[in-house]
Amino acid sequence: MKLSRQFTVFGSAIFCVVVFSLYLMLDHIDHSKNPNGERIQKGQLGILQDKIDHLERLLAENNEIIGNIRDSVINLRETVKDGKMFPEGNMSQGDLELLPPAPALLPIHSEDCQFAARTYSKAADGVQMLDVYDLLSFDNPDGGVWKQGFDISYQDNEWDNEPLQVFVVPHSHNDPGWLKTFDDYYRDQTQHILNNMVVKLHEDSRRKMIWSEISYFSKWWDNIDEQKRDAVRRLIESGQLEVATGGWVMPDEANTHYFALIDQLVEGHQWLERNLGVKPKTGWAVDPFGHTPTQAYLLRQAGLSNMLIQRVHYSVKKHFASQKTLEFFWRQNWDQDSSSDILCHMMPFYSYDVPHTCGPDPKICCQFDFKRLPGGRISCPWRIPPQAITDNNVQERAQTLLDQYRKKSKLFRTNVLLAPLGDDFRYTEAVEWDQQFENYQKLFDYMNSHPELHVQAQFGTISDYFEALRKSTGMDPVGMNVGQLALPVLSGDFFTYADRDDHYWSGYFTSRPFYKRLDRVLESHLRAAEVLYSLTLANIQKYGQPNDYPAVDNYKLLTEARRNLGLFQHHDAITGTGKDWVVVDYGTRLFHSILNVKRVIVSSAHWLVLKDKQTYYHDPSNPVLQMVSVHIFFTVPRLLVVYNPTEQARMSMVTVYVTTPKVRVLNAVGHVVRAQVSAVWNDVSHAAADVFQVRSATSVHHITALLWIYSPSQPPVVRVTKGPLFSEVTTTFTHITHTLRLYNIQGVEGQSVEICNTVDIRGETNHEIAMRITSDLNSKDRFFTDLNGYQVQPRKTLAKLPLQANFYPMTSMVYLQDSSARLSLLTAQSLGAASLKSGQLEVIMDRRLNQDDNRGLGQGVLDNKITANSFRLLLEKRSSAEEESAPYSYPSILSHMSYMYLNHPLISMAVSQRSESPSLTPYSPLSASFPCDMHLVNLRAIQSKVRGGPSEQAALILHRKGFDCGFSNRNTALLCTTTRGKVHLEKLLTDLKLKSITPVSLSLMHTYNSDADPQEISLKPMEIRTYRLQLS
Ligand SMILES: [Zn+2]
Repeated sequence: MKLSRQFTVFGSAIFCVVVFSLYLMLDHIDHSKNPNGERIQKGQLGILQDKIDHLERLLAENNEIIGNIRDSVINLRETVKDGKMFPEGNMSQGDLELLPPAPALLPIHSEDCQFAARTYSKAADGVQMLDVYDLLSFDNPDGGVWKQGFDISYQDNEWDNEPLQVFVVPHSHNDPGWLKTFDDYYRDQTQHILNNMVVKLHEDSRRKMIWSEISYFSKWWDNIDEQKRDAVRRLIESGQLEVATGGWVMPDEANTHYFALIDQLVEGHQWLERNLGVKPKTGWAVDPFGHTPTQAYLLRQAGLSNMLIQRVHYSVKKHFASQKTLEFFWRQNWDQDSSSDILCHMMPFYSYDVPHTCGPDPKICCQFDFKRLPGGRISCPWRIPPQAITDNNVQERAQTLLDQYRKKSKLFRTNVLLAPLGDDFRYTEAVEWDQQFENYQKLFDYMNSHPELHVQAQFGTISDYFEALRKSTGMDPVGMNVGQLALPVLSGDFFTYADRDDHYWSGYFTSRPFYKRLDRVLESHLRAAEVLYSLTLANIQKYGQPNDYPAVDNYKLLTEARRNLGLFQHHDAITGTGKDWVVVDYGTRLFHSILNVKRVIVSSAHWLVLKDKQTYYHDPSNPVLQMVSVHIFFTVPRLLVVYNPTEQARMSMVTVYVTTPKVRVLNAVGHVVRAQVSAVWNDVSHAAADVFQVRSATSVHHITALLWIYSPSQPPVVRVTKGPLFSEVTTTFTHITHTLRLYNIQGVEGQSVEICNTVDIRGETNHEIAMRITSDLNSKDRFFTDLNGYQVQPRKTLAKLPLQANFYPMTSMVYLQDSSARLSLLTAQSLGAASLKSGQLEVIMDRRLNQDDNRGLGQGVLDNKITANSFRLLLEKRSSAEEESAPYSYPSILSHMSYMYLNHPLISMAVSQRSESPSLTPYSPLSASFPCDMHLVNLRAIQSKVRGGPSEQAALILHRKGFDCGFSNRNTALLCTTTRGKVHLEKLLTDLKLKSITPVSLSLMHTYNSDADPQEISLKPMEIRTYRLQLS
C-alpha cells in the first residue's frame, strides 16, 4: 500500500510563482519495521500507476484506451486516506519564514464596497428578465399556425410610405462535432460547403453568405491553394461573405467558464487577423440551448456591435413578440450606465431552419426551402412541397412569401426584416446553391419590380441587416445611442430554455459530468502554462543568450491546447449532447492537451527556477521536473518545486505519494514542516477494520450535509479520519462515495468544508443522482447561481414551473442567504442546481438516460463514467444591506478566493533523480500580491505574424471582480488588499521590465488610444480588459 502525504505549503512568492521552497526528505525505508508490508506497498497502487504510465504512452497511438485511463485516474485520485501524523516538527518557525503574517482583518478600501452596496433602481424603459418570469403564466395555449404564438394581421397599406426591407441571410450551421466528429463532418460536409461557396458566390455578386466557426474555416484554409484564398479574400472585401462572431466555435453558454469563452474568441479572432484581416461586427448564435449575458458582455468588449440569439423559452419569445421587444439593447444587470449595451436580435420562432424563419407559418415557409423540392432527399413534413419558381407561378409565390414577411415584420418595431435562410450543414452540393439562390433571386426580382408591393428584398449578411436596422432607427452604424425609434434595454439571462411544452433543457447542465470536470482541469493547466510560458519567454529575452528552451515547440503545444479547449466549448461538446464516439474524440483531445500543457509547465518552470541558466537543457524524454500527479516517490530524498498559478500569495495543501510513512518535509531553509501521513485505500472493504461511527464530523454550525439518494439499498459504510492538518468523514453508498474534509490550516482552505462525491451509476436505468444540502437558512424561494463563473444571477424557484424548469446552470457557484448568513457551494465542474425548498440546495451529480429525447441525437446517455465531483461549502455571517429584490448579487472576497483555490490548485513538480542535482532558486516575478479583487485571467503569448512561433508580445487579460463587503474579513490569511481597481504593473514587477503596454479590445482586434498613464492600469468593477504587453 502506498501512502500519501499531505503538508501545507506557504506560497512564498506572489503571482504565478515557482517556489523552490520545499525539500521533500524521505528517510530510508526500513522494510523490516514497516508495519504495512512492502508487498502491499508495491501492490495495487503501484500496478495502477504503472498501468497509467503505460496507457499514457499508448495514448497517442490508440484513442480507445482513453476510457480506461480516465477511470484509472479517478480511482487513483479518489483513494481515501486515514490519519496519522508524522512527524511533529518545529512548524511555527519554519512556516512563518516564508510568508509575512497576514493581518487579522483584510484591509478593504471603503470605496471598493460602494459598487455592490448601491441601491437598485430599475431603468424606466428597462425589461428585467426576473420581472418577466414573475409576469408570465407559462400556460402554452395553441396559437394556431404559429403554434406557440398568436394570429398576426396587418393592413395592406402599412408599408405605403416606407417599404419593407427584407434581408434574406444564407447560413449553414456547422457543428464542430455532434453526430459525427469534427474531422468527419469536415471531410463529409464542411469542406464541400466552403468549396462550393467560393464558386457559387462568384457566379453572382448579389449572393451572400455568413460563416461563424473558425475551427472549420481555418482547417479548410490550410487545405486550399493560394488562388482560392485570394478568391475568399475578394468575397470578404466585396461584402458577399461575412464572418459572424468569429470564435473558434459557437460556444455553449450554460456550462462554459468565461476563461474558455474568451480563449476561444481570442483564438478565432487572432486567426482572422493573421489570415484575413477581418474584424467581426456581429454575433451569431442560433443553436446554444439558452443564452447568457456574459457572452453579450464578452462580444461587446471584443468590439462587436450587434448580436443574434435564437433558443429562448417559447413563452418569453411570445411575450416579447407581443410587446415588440424582440430587439433590444442587452445590458448587464450590474451595469450602472450603458457601457455594456449591445444591440441584440432575438429570433421569434421555434427554430433557425427555413420553415421557422420566413414568417409565422412553417407550412408556408417550408415551401420556400428549395432544397426540399420534390425528388430531393428531404421534404416538408407539412406535406406541401416547394415549387420551383417560374414565370407562371412567381406572382402567387412572391405574394405568399411576402405575406409571411409582413406578418413577421409586425413583431418588430422597424420596417427592416431579417429572414435567415439555412439549416444544419446546408449548401453542401452545388445544386443546392442553385436551387436556393436562383429561386430566391426570381422572387426578389419580382417583388422589387412591383412598386405596389412596397418591398425591397435581397440577400444580405447579418451585418447588412443590422446596418439597415440602425439606419432606420437613426442610430449610428456601430454605436449604442438609441436614436429616434427607441429600442428597449433588457437585463438578465435566458435560462432555462424550453422549446415546447414542458420540455426544459436542464439535463445538459449535468450530462457527462466527467468531461465537464476534465474541461476545468485543462482550463486551469492551460492558464498555468500560458502564464509560465510568457514569463519564460520574457526571461529568456533578458538572459540574451542562445539556449535550449523549446519556445516554438511549446508554442505549438499551447496552440493545440487552446484549440482543443476551444473546440470543447462548442454547444454539443461541453454540454454532453454528442454521440458516444464524438464524446470520446473530445475527451481524447482534452486529455492529450492536459499532458501537453504539463510539458510546457515543467520545461518553463525548469528554466525559471534554474540558478545557472547556462546549464539548462531540454530533454523531453527525461525532464528535470516531473509532474507529481503521475509520479511515485521512492527511497531517497526528493526536491519538490511548487508553482502557485494564482496572482495572490497563498497557503494551501499539497499532496504527494510516497512509499514509506517515515517521511519528513523540509522547507527551503531546512526547517521541518508539519505533515500528515495517511494511508491510501484502494476500495471500501480494505478499510473495513478502520470504520468508525460519525460523531459530529463537521463542526460547521447550523448546517448539515445530507445525501439524497433515490433508493439506498444498503446501509452506508462510514469511515472517520482525524489528524492535525485535516479530518474527514467518508461515507460509501451504493452509487456514491461522499467525503467531507475539514482542514485545520490558517487561511482560505481552512474556512470551508471540502466535499468530494465519487459517483458511479453505470449499472442503472434512467437514473439521476443528486446531492441535497439542507440548512436552517430562511432563503424562501430565492437563490443565486453564477453565469459562466463571471457574474451572479439571482433566481427564484417558481411553483408555476415544473421541477426540471427550476434547475439552472451552476458553473462556479450556487448560494442561499437570509438576513444573517449566506451558504455557498463552490464547484470544480459545471452541474445543474436548484433550491426546491427554503434553505435547501440540490445539485445533480450525474444522469443516465436509456432512451433518446427526440432532439436529433438518436441515443440516450449511457457512457457514464466513475466521476469525482469536488466542491467547497462556505458559510459566512452576513451583515449586508443588499436589497432582496436587486437583480444582482456578488460573492465575498473569501468566496472568490475559495473558488480560485478549488479550481487552481498549487502545481507540484518533483526534481528527477539524477547524479547531479541542479541548483535551483525561487522565482517571484511580482513583489507583492495583486489586489484581492483583481484576477489575472490570462497572460497569453501572441503568435508571430511571420512564423508559426510566438511573437515578443503577450495578451494580458485582467478582470476586476465585483464583491460584496457585507461579510467577515477576519482570519482569511490573505495578503492582498483592494486598490480601487488600480494596478501599477511596473512597480509590481521584480526582475522583468515593462517594455510596452497598449490597451486593446478583449480579443486584440482593436487598439484603443488612451491618454491615461499606460503604466497604471485602472479597471471598473466587473470589467474585463485586455492589454497588449511586452516584457523584457
Ligand atoms: Zn448546433
